Amino acid sequence: MAIIIKTPEEIEILREGGRRLAVILYKVKDFVKPGISTKDLDKYAEKLIREGGDIPAFLNYRPEGVRTPYPASLCVSVNEEVVHGIPSDKKILKEGDIVSIDLGLKHKGLYTDMALTVPVGDVSPASKKLLEVTEKAMHVGINAAQNGNKVGDIGYAIENFARPHRYGIVEVLSGHGVGREIHEDPYIPNFGKKNTGVKLVKGMVIAIEPMLNMGTKNVKLENDEYTFITADKKRSAHFENTILITDGEPEILTRLPE
Ligand code: MG
Repeated sequence: MAIIIKTPEEIEILREGGRRLAVILYKVKDFVKPGISTKDLDKYAEKLIREGGDIPAFLNYRPEGVRTPYPASLCVSVNEEVVHGIPSDKKILKEGDIVSIDLGLKHKGLYTDMALTVPVGDVSPASKKLLEVTEKAMHVGINAAQNGNKVGDIGYAIENFARPHRYGIVEVLSGHGVGREIHEDPYIPNFGKKNTGVKLVKGMVIAIEPMLNMGTKNVKLENDEYTFITADKKRSAHFENTILITDGEPEILTRLPE
């Protein structure tokens, strides 16, 4: 396992790429409304990335063991879909849905990765709470990503925070190193034990991305080879940021400009 420490020059590029990605993803978020298709969101995300002179990182990406490359720029996962939902003209968002939008961007050769889960119009209090807790869980995980801590401290923090809410914490999918590739070592599980796993050191860039389910933690893969759904068809939420390990507090790279 090779952990890549980014150079100061790479970090500057990742910072700019992360800002661009955050601006785009929030625009896509604002575009979410009842009546549009998940393909509309994908087209809009791709257009915004290309207008900035950058490259959609997920388009044509082929994960190990999968036969066909990913056919879109954005992953759009609605309700019981956990992650990696493939955009479709036929999938129309409706009031009350929750939709995870997950986007990767390649800027000057380097990758950043970010996801939000967005309510479509008015959603139930239970869905609202799922989104709030999942976003908070991501920030709790980020706060644990301190220089000298270990990967297990991040997972422990997320699990410890999410557990009292009785949500299923997805275990078969995890965060990851990111930068020179869209997925690098190490894996960053959303559960774990304190003081275990790979040590976090200054200059590491990682994506932290908890997925919390209203019911079981178990997921299954659809026949399209990409879309993960919850095993009990209850709803799932997903938030992700790309962050930099520093001497002090972790720096969120996928952050809107001040
Ligand atoms: Mg990711």
